[in-house]
Amino acid sequence: MQKDIETVLFSHEQIKVRVDELGDSISRDYRGKDLLVVGILKGAFIFMGDLVRAIKIPIETDFMAVSSYGASSESSGVVRILMDLEKSIEGRHVLIVEDIVDTGLTLKYLIEALNSRKPASVKVCTFLDKPERRRVDVKAEYNGYEVPDEFLVGYGLDYNEKYRNLPYIGILKREVYS
Ligand code: 5GP
Repeated sequence: MQKDIETVLFSHEQIKVRVDELGDSISRDYRGKDLLVVGILKGAFIFMGDLVRAIKIPIETDFMAVSSYGASSESSGVVRILMDLEKSIEGRHVLIVEDIVDTGLTLKYLIEALNSRKPASVKVCTFLDKPERRRVDVKAEYNGYEVPDEFLVGYGLDYNEKYRNLPYIGILKREVYS
């Protein structure tokens, strides 16, 4: 796998430090509140696992699976919920956990879908953010790193379902996907 990586952007050690900082901020902001942390599958599963262990207040967790892309690698704006939450979120504080915000289309859809269920609040924690690529106006309240417009893999992010298990975030060599 290593041979397919152009550059390592964030090492396993750097990621740990940043995830702990995010966990501290979230713990501080939600102390005394009823918080449901919602991981978006599949990309966020590793970040979600690390983040919830860095949150030091009582929380509940759930997952949603969405598909934002059709066959192409460009966002179509069409988002489908493949797996929904188990319980009602009415009156609860919800924190969406995403791997990466690119065009923002997936996130915009998710925020609107969850807001229509009358929660106390909906906020977003994304590990990575590609602000250059944004097509709609959405912002994550918690953001691990801003990244350049490159195709990234590792730490949950895939190409054709591979590379998710890399412990770092790397830029995939163009020759692998073009
Ligand atoms: P958006 O709707 O913001 O365009 O799409 C977000 C989704 O696109 C992410 O959850 C992720 O699945 C995918 N994505 C965007 N950029 C990258 C990238 O650099 N690498 C990988 N592996 N997936 C990406």
